[in-house]
Amino acid sequence: MEFCCEDMKNNVYNVDQIIPTVEGDINNKVIYYSSKFNEYGIPIHDGENGRASSYILIEYCPWCGKELPESKRDEWFELLEELGFDCPFEDDIPQKFKTSEWYSKE
Ligand SMILES: [Zn+2]
Repeated sequence: MEFCCEDMKNNVYNVDQIIPTVEGDINNKVIYYSSKFNEYGIPIHDGENGRASSYILIEYCPWCGKELPESKRDEWFELLEELGFDCPFEDDIPQKFKTSEWYSKE
């Protein structure tokens, strides 16, 4: 994964594999990144013990100002719906849709 700048790289947390009970390092990360949706966000600490259970989407890097990639969220839902997954957060979706694998060429 390539980030727009060193600051982003150092302050971002990939939330694809997030475990709600995760402790420690994640609390020091000010930006969340979802590789499966290819989107960045500011965490909202509304979960248990102040943990972030969601994030507010951002379009530009707060450090270098570069425009961040367009979110693939809609595409993700559309594709999975075509494959017959109407509730992709609950259904047992193919592994590749849980990371960037479903849209990356490698
Ligand atoms: Zn940046």
